[in-house]
Amino acid sequence: MAEIKNICILGSTGSIGRNSLEVIALFPDRFRVAYLTANTNIDLLEQQVARFKPRGVAVLDESAASHLRRKMNGSLSMWSSEEGLLELIAQDDIDIVISAMVGFAGLKPTIEAIKRGRKVALANKEALVVAGEIITRLVEQSGATLLPIDSEHSAILQCLAGEDHSNIARLILTASGGPFLHLDKDEFSSITVDAALKHPNWKMGNKITIDSATLMNKGLEVIEAHWLFNIPAEKIDILIHPQSIIHSMVEFVDGSVKAQLGVPDMKIPIQYALTYPERASSEYQRVDFAGLHEMTFFSPDVEKFVCLALAVEALQLGGTAPTILNAANEIAVQLFLQETIKFHQIPTLIRHALDTLPVTASPTLEDIIAADRATRRTVHDYSRRTMTSAQLTIG
Ligand code: NDP
Repeated sequence: MAEIKNICILGSTGSIGRNSLEVIALFPDRFRVAYLTANTNIDLLEQQVARFKPRGVAVLDESAASHLRRKMNGSLSMWSSEEGLLELIAQDDIDIVISAMVGFAGLKPTIEAIKRGRKVALANKEALVVAGEIITRLVEQSGATLLPIDSEHSAILQCLAGEDHSNIARLILTASGGPFLHLDKDEFSSITVDAALKHPNWKMGNKITIDSATLMNKGLEVIEAHWLFNIPAEKIDILIHPQSIIHSMVEFVDGSVKAQLGVPDMKIPIQYALTYPERASSEYQRVDFAGLHEMTFFSPDVEKFVCLALAVEALQLGGTAPTILNAANEIAVQLFLQETIKFHQIPTLIRHALDTLPVTASPTLEDIIAADRATRRTVHDYSRRTMTSAQLTIG
């Protein structure tokens, strides 16, 4: 029988983290939960510790960490802060790292896992968006295996099995279109946080749910696909497919198209990344084709969903432009969730950042970290300045 693989989940208390634990629980003879991490949610982390009995945990937030440390009373290894998180990833007994933290915060831990030559199942797309060149180079140098968890990229990986890279004509990323697909652009200014958090097909963390409503998520996925599959932006198309049954497609040079289909359940791509290149049988819901009635497709409206166009522009600009895009988006989404800015002002803040901040070509990790910090400052300043009088003159 194959050896049991030790898994470390970065961000185990999040949506992907929780789904990952459900998948792992189905295969006790293949996988073991070795390490878990969270930011502040120690109540859930404690429940996960009781159920999965990991060897150690890391909690980013210092005060949450000391609270948990007191409760655990030395019963397991514990780390805190960013340094602690990196120490946890350095443990020798990890076979697979599931990178499922949200945002730029996932970059350094993901890089650390790759440097150590691990198998990395990547959900944290922001890491590839901001440092795709560095990460792909490190994967080659370290012999790490980088596998996507994102359903679209998992679909492409599955479509490419057994195919020659030179035969790819284009990648077709599908998108549900989010909750505002049919809403008039003039009404974007009155979109509430509650409405934006209601995704029609997927249940996810808040940040990616807002990204799905603005279609920034699809833009980030174009950048992610570019780095994962080494395909230029011009050969990556987006197709709105509201039913989310086809998770993405590849068109080949002879005109053939391969698609991967399944119900919208993140456990399926998570499991594929964990068992890759094998498959394992599961009881997840199956596609009921007869009950589907229709599958529809149309092109995205980039005039309406400006974030999508901004992401493609950042990819084409290269260097630190995707870092600027990502940082501006993270701040804009946070401000929207706090009801400080309106939905339609998210792209306005990102546009301002891309127009204002200098782009560094071929950036080092330090350049990327500096660009991220500078962008966050700039976007905060701009939103404060432009919001002094009537709720937002911007946008
Ligand atoms: P969630 O917000 O649900 O979870 C985020 C996780 O990261 C939590 O465990 C959280 O801890 C932890 N975390 C947040 N900030 C920090 C920080 N600064 N330092 C350390 N840990 C932190 O996000 P999702 O699970 O939805 O998404 C995770 C990633 O996966 C994102 O990059 C997203 O784009 C991607 N993804 C998600 C999909 C989904 O279905 N959800 C689908 C495809 C990709 P705590 O709970 O303590 O706050």
